Amino acid sequence: MRIDILHGDITTRPVDVIVNAANSSLLGGGGVDGAIHRAAGPELLEACRRLRRSELPDGLPVGAAVATPGFRLPARWVVHTVGPNRHAGQTDPALLASCFNESLKVATGLGARSVAFPAISAGIYGWDARQVAEVAFDAVRSFWSSPSAGAASGSPLELVEFVLFSEETTAVFRAEFEASPGPWT
Ligand code: ADP
Repeated sequence: MRIDILHGDITTRPVDVIVNAANSSLLGGGGVDGAIHRAAGPELLEACRRLRRSELPDGLPVGAAVATPGFRLPARWVVHTVGPNRHAGQTDPALLASCFNESLKVATGLGARSVAFPAISAGIYGWDARQVAEVAFDAVRSFWSSPSAGAASGSPLELVEFVLFSEETTAVFRAEFEASPGPWT
């Protein structure tokens, strides 16, 4: 498995899965969530509403993940996850790690070979980008090393991209990546 760090707009990525930093309502928001809904088209909101009417009447919990189709996106699927909101006192890194881990589980369950992540919780939810990067790389490494989910289980995953919207966040992720050894380096 390879990890790439890119500066750009996640909605343009031709991967199997893009991950959305959604909110619990799943009914749209600002930031990357708004951009994904605009690019995917109104069918995405309809699919999210269906999830709310069926399996998620109370919304998606923090740290959990759920898939919808990508509709008009180049990506085949969107995996929605809800990052912890630092402004609401959600400061436990395990919640953020869970977002990456659960998203990878859902993605590999769909047979995804390539997954793109944004900097979950590093925007409106107020986390420091460096900490998000550290948690993200740790979570991907643990996922990949876990016997039930990663390489040993025959996971089809070949590529994990981090797609960062600002040059500053891209530089932070690159620096953190270089500081964090892993099986992909
Ligand atoms: P959260 O509420 O989880 O903090 P945000 O959407 O506010 O989510 O921000 C998460 C990160 O996504 C921020 O670093 C923000 O700059 C970035 N972002 C916003 N739009 C895009 C986009 N189109 N592609 C990739 N990243 C984006």
